[in-house]
Amino acid sequence: MIVDAHLDLAHNVLDLGRDLTLPLAELRKRDGYKDIPVVTLPALREGGVGLCFATLWADPKKHTDPQAAHTAARAQLEVYRRWEDAGLVRIIRSTGDLRCHQERWPADRVPALVILIEGGECIREPGEVAFWKAEGVRLIGPAWNRTRYCGGTREPGGLTPLGVELLHAMDEAGLALDFAHMDEQAFWESLEVFRGPVCATHANPRSLLGGADTPFANRHLSDAMILAIGERGGMVGAVLFNFFLDHTWSRGMERLSLHAVQKHLYHVARLIGWDKVGLGSDFDGGFGMNENPEGLNQPGDLARIGDLVPAEAREGVLGGNWLRWLERWL
Ligand SMILES: [Zn+2]
Repeated sequence: MIVDAHLDLAHNVLDLGRDLTLPLAELRKRDGYKDIPVVTLPALREGGVGLCFATLWADPKKHTDPQAAHTAARAQLEVYRRWEDAGLVRIIRSTGDLRCHQERWPADRVPALVILIEGGECIREPGEVAFWKAEGVRLIGPAWNRTRYCGGTREPGGLTPLGVELLHAMDEAGLALDFAHMDEQAFWESLEVFRGPVCATHANPRSLLGGADTPFANRHLSDAMILAIGERGGMVGAVLFNFFLDHTWSRGMERLSLHAVQKHLYHVARLIGWDKVGLGSDFDGGFGMNENPEGLNQPGDLARIGDLVPAEAREGVLGGNWLRWLERWL
C-alpha cells in the first residue's frame, strides 16, 4: 500500500468547495479553480494509496485568531468524520486500528486517514491537546508560518514558553511531533524538550534548494536536522511541489522531471538510510497538477517514484516505512 504523509483534504473541501467524493475526472470537469486537482477519495482508492495523513489546517489569513482557527479545524474534523460514517475512509486511532486496516485494505481498498494538525493555532492553549487526542488527532505540527508556539516558514524564531508547554502536553498525550514548516531554531529547541516520536511529513533537504539564503529555505531541512531526525528514529516525507524540489522553478515553467524527486530521496537516504525515507506529497496543498513533477497527475502515480529508488527500498519508500514508524508508537 502507498502511504502519503501529507494531504490537506478537508481544506480542499471547505475552503475550495471541492467534493472529494467524486471521481477525479468528474471533479476536474466541475472545478473552477486554476489549479488542476489531483486528489479525490476514489482516486486514492484506485491508485492504491491505502493511508494518508490528513490535515486540520486553518488558513491564518482567513482565521486570524485562535478561536477562529479552532472553529475551522473542528469543521475540518467533521468532514473526516462524515466520510468515516459513510464508509469512505477509516480513521486510524491505534495500532489495533492500523493492523485491522492492513488486513481489510487489500479486499476493500478503503483509504485510511491519520489525522494531523498542521499549524498549531487551532489549539487554543496547550491543555487542549488531550481534547484533540480524544477527537482522533495523532500528530501535531506546531508551525506553519510563525504561530503562538514557535517560529515557522519565512518567520524565524524559537519555541515560545507556550510552545514548550505544548510539547510537554503532546508528550503526556503520546502524540507525534511533525517538524514540517518549523524554523531551525525552534527545531533544535524542540528536540531538547520533546521525547516522543518525530517526523517531518513534507519537507526536503535545504542543501539541494540553494542553501539557507533562498526564499522558503527555512521551511526545509538542513543536513544536520535530517541527521537529528534520523537519530531519533524519525521519518522524512518528500514534498512533491516543483518549487520545493528546485528553487529556481516557478509557476508557468515546464514541469520538472521525476529526476528532481530522485535527487532529494537519495540525499535523505544517504544521510539516514532508506528505511527513514517516505512521501508527503502535499498534492493540492496550494498548487495543482501542473505544479507537480511530470508524470505525477493522480495519487496512483506515486507508484512511479518506486522506480527511482533501489529495488530493495521501493516497498519502504512508497509506504512500508511510514507504516512501521506508525506501528512503533500509535
Ligand atoms: Zn504544509
